[in-house]
Amino acid sequence: MSPDAGATALDYLYDRNPDPGTVIDIAPGVRWLTMPLPSSLNHINLWQLEDGDGVALVDTGIFSNASKQVWEQVFAGALKGRKVTRLIVTHAHPDHIGLAGWLCETHGIELWISETEWTMGRRFSLEPGKILVESGVALFRRGGLGGEAEAMAQARMITRVPSSPVPATYHRLEDGTVLSIGGRDWRVIVGRGHAPEHCCLWCPELDIMIAGDQVLPKITPNVSLWPGRDAEDPLGNFIATTNTLEETVPDSVLVLPSHNLPFHRLHNRLRQLRDHHAARMDEVLAATDAPKTAAEVVPMMFRHRTLDQRQMAFALGEALAHLQYGVTLGALAREDRADAAWLFHRT
Ligand SMILES: [Zn+2]
Repeated sequence: MSPDAGATALDYLYDRNPDPGTVIDIAPGVRWLTMPLPSSLNHINLWQLEDGDGVALVDTGIFSNASKQVWEQVFAGALKGRKVTRLIVTHAHPDHIGLAGWLCETHGIELWISETEWTMGRRFSLEPGKILVESGVALFRRGGLGGEAEAMAQARMITRVPSSPVPATYHRLEDGTVLSIGGRDWRVIVGRGHAPEHCCLWCPELDIMIAGDQVLPKITPNVSLWPGRDAEDPLGNFIATTNTLEETVPDSVLVLPSHNLPFHRLHNRLRQLRDHHAARMDEVLAATDAPKTAAEVVPMMFRHRTLDQRQMAFALGEALAHLQYGVTLGALAREDRADAAWLFHRT
């Protein structure tokens, strides 16, 4: 994810996040909890929804002792004596699903998640190293890293974030699923591009949408081609989701994002995200006057930044997502080079 300049055209209800462990009311039956993250993006927002005689939880925080301590504080405080009715996970990234197994097992909670995200989360939590290295090598070769692909995949393995084993059973969420939570309808809107089957939750009665990472106010959600899903067009899917959200959810909605602050003016934000990617596509098209690999396009897309190995892995995935989208649009053609790298050039 990267910072962008688009934050000014949004309206914020708060000027800071709650302190870790503090649960605050944000709307009737909706509460906000912030968890620490050990990265430059130093927090994640989690949500709690009144659900009859209990409380439904949305997302978990990363698998870490710091997160577990915050949960223990919450269970001894705001959730003391309360039944937890379910755990809803928006998508399988480690800061959202990392403690699902631990929470479900410790507190006897059942998990609600989409099928693709469950499958990814479950596999990743059981055999992370194997998946990361094998699929990483293949993707980095396609990206044009050649002999460096193996080392890069191993480096990702070292910086990987573990998860507690994702539960073996789950309740399946799908696009259009309507959950009755605390007597109110929450409709699942599946978003694609940042993750394959990310669930946003929209409550028309409260005019609130839990957006997960699909729409963030101050940073652009990471949209990358992921190892093992080479045939997909994540950026095309992401743009399509911005259109779906604009057509489905009114601009008056209060957006609860997983990072930074709740905000109004969803439609402005969706436009900004589309504009951001259109500008990046212009850079990508300018860079591909002669055939180029994703690795050769990265320095042109990220020319003001020095990238460490981990950032390079993300940058390569992002470059590939833009290049693939160019192919979908018919603006670029893709060829296989003898060393398995993909070469892109303007049509
Ligand atoms: Zn995410």
